[in-house]
Amino acid sequence: MEISEIGFGGIPIIPLQTDEAIAVVRYCFDQGVTFFDTANMYPTSEEKIGTALADVRQQVVLATKTTARDAAGASAHIKQSLIQLKTDWIDLYQFHNVSNTEALEQLQAPGGAYEAVARAQQAGKIRCIGLSSHSIPIATAALKTGLFQTLQFPFNFIESDPEEELFPLARASSVGIIGMKPLGGGLLERADLCFGFLQRHPDVVPIPGVRAQAEMDEIIGLYRNRRPLSYGDLKAMAEIRSALGEKFCHRCEYCMPCEQGVQIPGVLIFQAAAKRLSPETVNLWLGEAIKTAANCIECGECEQKCPYQLPITDRLRENLAL
Ligand code: SF4
Ligand code: SF4
Repeated sequence: MEISEIGFGGIPIIPLQTDEAIAVVRYCFDQGVTFFDTANMYPTSEEKIGTALADVRQQVVLATKTTARDAAGASAHIKQSLIQLKTDWIDLYQFHNVSNTEALEQLQAPGGAYEAVARAQQAGKIRCIGLSSHSIPIATAALKTGLFQTLQFPFNFIESDPEEELFPLARASSVGIIGMKPLGGGLLERADLCFGFLQRHPDVVPIPGVRAQAEMDEIIGLYRNRRPLSYGDLKAMAEIRSALGEKFCHRCEYCMPCEQGVQIPGVLIFQAAAKRLSPETVNLWLGEAIKTAANCIECGECEQKCPYQLPITDRLRENLAL
């Protein structure tokens, strides 16, 4: 499949009014974006993208995902996505967040999700099959099965580990690479640094989440006027990396929801935000979230779901104290 150098990530249009979301998606298409990524679990995102692009369907590549690990669940999700995306076929169908051994084994087992997706591919409803993951060992194991044509993985200058072994393996296996979270899931503010870094990896397709036309304009501007990273840029990137530390919350929200109402990602990024932003800005952005940390009863459920194995309850306590 041939696609634009920059793709479109379908999460940030979730809270937008339908008309507003459709206008943003369409604007991105009008600017030349031809790759749109969404997921069955992103409420309203598939419908908004499907509606915005219905009359140009042949000119775009639509990607979506399923969290189902069994054939019946995946089959139901495929049917639903075809309706919501208003299309007869899905160009790329991905297994969503395959980040532990259990998930990878379940989807390949007899009666697993892969069977349903492969059947849909044979029936012409799906062109290519891929996966998204947050775990290098699991993504590596997945690529070695030879079952996947694309890999979607977080990639930005604070999460550059996949470049060491995972992406070379993908390249050697002719697996297309999609870079999720090009702006660190909202943690990174300097789009120039983020996309300057990504331009060094031209075979990784970034899918920035875009909420407004101006955001896509800024990104396209950075590609039209691309320049090599300067020494000052590299120094700024190193400073940001060291301020965030090794184990930071990637805001993937796989730990959510918490039955006690704790807004886990908002609490966990508090410390990093407080280092870089004014107290007023941090309070405005995360003030409500941080208060919910007091509700934690330390049941540990979130820690079992976090693909980065973060010590969430310890971090909640530290951030609340801060
Ligand atoms: S450990 Fe705390 S934050 Fe995590 S799920 Fe339990 S109550 Fe919620
Ligand atoms: S705590 Fe873990 S699962 Fe939750 S948002 Fe952060 S990185 Fe994702």
